[in-house]
Amino acid sequence: MKKKFHIITYGCQMNRYDSAVLRSFLEEKGHRWTDDVVDADLIIVNTCTVRQHAENRAIGRLEELVSLKRKHPDKKVGIIGCVAQELGEKILKKIPTLDFVVGTDKISAIADIIDGTAEGKVYTDIDEKFYGLASPPHIEDGDFSAFVTIMRGCDNFCSYCIVPYVRGRERSKPPQKIIDEIKWAAERGVVEITLLGQNVNSYRYGDIDFPKLLEMVAQIENIARIRFITNHPKDFSKKILDVVEKYRNKIPASFHLPLQSGSDKILAAMNRKYTISQYLSIVEDIYRRFPDAIITTDIIVGFPGEDENDFLQTISALNEIGFGGIFAFRYSVRNGTTSAKLKDNVPETEKIARLNEIIKLGIRLAQKYSRKQIGTIQKVLLGNISKKNPEFITSTAPSGRVVLIPRKEFFKKFVDVKIEKASTWVLWGKPIIFHNKPF
Ligand code: SF4
Repeated sequence: MKKKFHIITYGCQMNRYDSAVLRSFLEEKGHRWTDDVVDADLIIVNTCTVRQHAENRAIGRLEELVSLKRKHPDKKVGIIGCVAQELGEKILKKIPTLDFVVGTDKISAIADIIDGTAEGKVYTDIDEKFYGLASPPHIEDGDFSAFVTIMRGCDNFCSYCIVPYVRGRERSKPPQKIIDEIKWAAERGVVEITLLGQNVNSYRYGDIDFPKLLEMVAQIENIARIRFITNHPKDFSKKILDVVEKYRNKIPASFHLPLQSGSDKILAAMNRKYTISQYLSIVEDIYRRFPDAIITTDIIVGFPGEDENDFLQTISALNEIGFGGIFAFRYSVRNGTTSAKLKDNVPETEKIARLNEIIKLGIRLAQKYSRKQIGTIQKVLLGNISKKNPEFITSTAPSGRVVLIPRKEFFKKFVDVKIEKASTWVLWGKPIIFHNKPF
């Protein structure tokens, strides 16, 4: 019997992409999406396990949802994604009334579960040949931006990270599949693509490495802007910058380059495989070639063994580099990772104090970057009506900053905007020239 289904998604863009693909997959099988979770016969929770907090939130939500089954025993509620992969059977001990537990590589099992042809409730084998479901991701009418996953898994084993254990070894998706998917999205009006992977820089399929793939994507007609996340400093090459330079009109000089710590001692303990001076030389190269580049980063504070001196080295690196955005996290132990064997010896109060200091610094640096944009003319892609400021249209600048422009001006998709005002993360602009075609 055909079902009405709803997917709740936690975590990163890769999970959002997986949910969008799963939605298309189920719709192709005749099941129907509903926006209303209570109305759904089938509720799927796509989960993230990167931090304990994210895992707890997802489990809490599942507990709420299975309580709906008391009144409506026919409803099915299940878990997919990284928590399902990591915990498997164990989740059923916590929530025995869950209908299914499906890991990252076994997502197609959901179709059999709905049809009643599946045997058992738990599907968590890792399939090293799985590149994702064949269905293209669901695209809403009017969407101008879409994610495309180019690889799955990770081989880096950063000592604090659970991803390689739950997402398996690195697998690069065949380039033709990526190109077909982007063309399919472009035919539906998408003009901005973000290529996704745990470490896109290590993409390789036969002779095609990441710079070659990026160039192939840049040649697709009607795609106006290409972004890519996440980079890894150990694999970030000059060849990537060559492609960015060649296709500057399409690929913004906007790089998310996780630093994690400014101390070589801590970087080694994290198994990041680069030193601070190697990182600085990449940054120098980026700013030399693209003086208007924006670089954003991730930082973990309170990693085991991080002393005051290590922390000060991080602060000094952040100031020196002048990031346009810092995403800071407090270290927390993930069972099963290498760093879980280290003594978690930075007191919680100290972790919180360091985190707050980095957050404050991140805001100051982001404001500095945003203010520098005032008076510049930027090529933005018009998006949707702003939920917070309905009299404005949201759009994105090459840097990724949100630009708000007055709604009455919204009639074309590509526009040169003069930036007139800036807050930390948002720029306000006045449209100068409208273009009918991509820049
Ligand atoms: S690169 Fe490191 S932090 Fe990123 S997913 Fe792989 S192991 Fe985790």
